[in-house]
Order: sequence, then structure tokens, then C-alpha cells
Amino acid sequence: MSIPASINPPPRLLMGPGPITADPRVLRAMSAQLVGQYDPWMTDTMNEVMGLYRQVYITDNQQTLLVDGTSRAGIEAALVSLLEPGDRVLVPIFGRFGHLLAEICRRAGADVHTIETEWGQVFTEEALEAALVDVQPKVLAVVHGDTSTTVAQPLEGLGELCERHGALLYVDCTATLGGNEFRTDEWGIDVATSGLQKCLGGPSGSAPVTFSPRAVEVIESRKSIEEGIRAEGDPVSAHPIRSNYLDMAQIFDYWSERRLNHHTEATTMLYGSRECARILLQEGLAQSWARHDLHGRAMLAGTTALGLEPFGALAYRMTNVVGVHIPDGVNGDEVRAAMLEDFGIEIGTSFGPLHGKVWRIGTMGYNARTDAVLQTLAALEAVLRRAGHRAAAGAGVDAAYDLYGTAV
Ligand SMILES: *Cc1c(COP(=O)(O)O)cnc(C)c1O
Repeated sequence: MSIPASINPPPRLLMGPGPITADPRVLRAMSAQLVGQYDPWMTDTMNEVMGLYRQVYITDNQQTLLVDGTSRAGIEAALVSLLEPGDRVLVPIFGRFGHLLAEICRRAGADVHTIETEWGQVFTEEALEAALVDVQPKVLAVVHGDTSTTVAQPLEGLGELCERHGALLYVDCTATLGGNEFRTDEWGIDVATSGLQKCLGGPSGSAPVTFSPRAVEVIESRKSIEEGIRAEGDPVSAHPIRSNYLDMAQIFDYWSERRLNHHTEATTMLYGSRECARILLQEGLAQSWARHDLHGRAMLAGTTALGLEPFGALAYRMTNVVGVHIPDGVNGDEVRAAMLEDFGIEIGTSFGPLHGKVWRIGTMGYNARTDAVLQTLAALEAVLRRAGHRAAAGAGVDAAYDLYGTAV
């Protein structure tokens, strides 16, 4: 058998809905050497990471840490640890990831109630309150920005509503954290989970999560120490969390001062997560939100000038991904293939009801940059013209230039 050459990926500009091109500083941090997981330096570094993500999440929650795995590991860890079989949960669905939350809750054995709205729209506060009154759930589980539809559910006020109706509020902010305003404590969010490969500018594989004291209490009541390492007096719950790897009670202990053994820390991902948060906080949260907003608006102006009709409720648009209708007579997959092969630029297709109808173009993390936006618009215009779509020469780039107010 022949041995393949060493890994040598083609140069790409990832302008889809995620993953995006990682910040080179994050990749460099990830090339640092390993240290034993109970080394005092490692303990300090884990504590440092908790402190950094408290700032990213804008929270005082002690339990702010990393779940090893992609964003979905964080989502599943949160839901499977909060929900016992038979617990009522309310999941408002406005895109693909709402369906994912509902599925994970069902597999956890919860009594799942959903409300749905058309993809591209969000729920009114009245609709959410009516459902809360109707269902009386233990947990309301909702996506913030659903990349499948490019819109974000407004969250302000929702925490208060949940508190009034006795529910815990869980939010999947994978696609929005770092690039859109997100305030965990101020908005009364009990649990939030995220990932690195969207606005945080890193690779997928680590899920920063945060849990309020209220949520921690619910989870701690289900604590069971693993057989074989269980000592005299250690708890054995009558209703244990139905996962070992994603058991948040054990993961809290692992990240606590006691450092109770659970999994082997994914040290390289810890370095990457640390660098993502460090870079973001060095820029400033408000500055990063504004940068995502600026480049998102430039991409929207550029695609609109190319004659591409925007998708979804623009008032609720995520800052970091633009959805556009694929023009009549244009083959969406062929255009994406030409963008990739001829220009090395990846843009996104869509799922479910939007498949074949909408492209999704991201401007996030490391790629929320003027040059990335202008290159993508220039390439898109060239490819669209060859695909038979008529657009005024230079219209996309000019519209973005105008928005940036760039003079030569
Ligand atoms: C991208 C995205 C995810 C991704 O989950 P992974 O496990 O990292 O693939 C989850 N939720 C939302 C809302 C997303 O946009």
C-alpha cells in the first residue's frame, strides 16, 4: 500500500455559513506542546479559559467551561443533563437547528412540545409567552441565530418570561457568539452553548458553555460518580444523567478545584479555544459585533447590487451570514462549484425547504474583513455572468465600496 503525501490542503476562502477560515493565530496556538492534565500549569490554563469565556459570554457564572466535541456536543451535554425522561420542554423551531434541539430532547426521553414558524421568520414575544403558558415546560430550548435561515430570534425579555413561568432558558448561540450582541446574565439566560467555527474564528471541536447557578442546581441533583472511581459517600443518583461523556455534573467536577477525573482534556482544542477568546477580547466584544455588522451589511449591499434578492426577514438578520435567492435559470450547485474551483472561494448551499433555492454567504470571525468581502463579490459577479445572470459590471464591489465609504 502506498503512503499518501503529508497533508496539504488547497488554499480556500471559506465564505459559507461555517466552518470559516481559522485565524492563523489560533492554528499557531494549537501547535503548542502538550502538558499533563493535572500539571499545575494546566490547571492555571483551564482556569484562565473559564475566565476568558465568562467575559465572552458576559456572565458571572462559575460554571463557564469547555465541552470537548463540536457545538453539538455542547448542545447535547446541556439538554441531556437538564432533562429527565418525562420532563416537559418547549422548542420553538424556525430552522434546521430548532429541529436538532427537539430531536436531542426526544432522545433524552423528554416530553417535547414544539411551535414552528416559516424559515426566515422569528417568533413574537406574545407567541412564545402563549406557548410557555400552554406547555408549562421545565426548559425552553431555543436557537439564537439559526444559520440555516440566516435570522436570529430576539432574546431580550425572554429570560424574564421564562422566569415568570418557572422555566429554565437554554440557548444555542453557536452561530452568533462573538459576532452578534449576546448578554447571558443581563438577558436571563440559564444555559448557553457555542462552538468555535463561526464568529470565534477557530476550528470546530470545542464547545464553550455556561450554566447559571439555577441550572447547576438542577444538574447537581442528578449527580452520580462513575463506578470504579466512586469513593465512600460519593453520590449515586436515582435519576442519573443518561450519558457519561456528556454528564455535566461530572464535567463541572472535572473543571472544579477538585479536578475529579473524567475524560482526558483535549489539550490542543483548549489552546485553540483560549486563543479564540483572547483574540476576541483583545479586539473588544462591541468592536467585534460592529465589525460583523459592517461586513455583513457590505455583503448584503453587494449581493443586492448584483440583482440577488435577499432571503428572510431582514429586520432579524444575523450580522454574519447573508441569505440570497438563487436567480431563476441559474444552477446553484454549478455556481458554487465554479466559485470553489476557479476562485478557491466556498459559499453555502441550504437545507430542507430552502435546498436549491438559497445561497448562504458568511462574513464571520477571521473572514469578516473588507478584502474577503470584495473578493467574494468580484468572483460571484464573474461566475454569475458566465451562468447567464445579468448584472452591471462591477456593481457588487462598487456597492460594498460605497458602504465602506472607501476612497481611492
Ligand atoms: C453551525 C451551527 C451548529 C453546529 O454544530 P456542530 O456540532 O459544530 O456542527 C449548531 N447550532 C447552530 C445554531 C449552528 O449555526
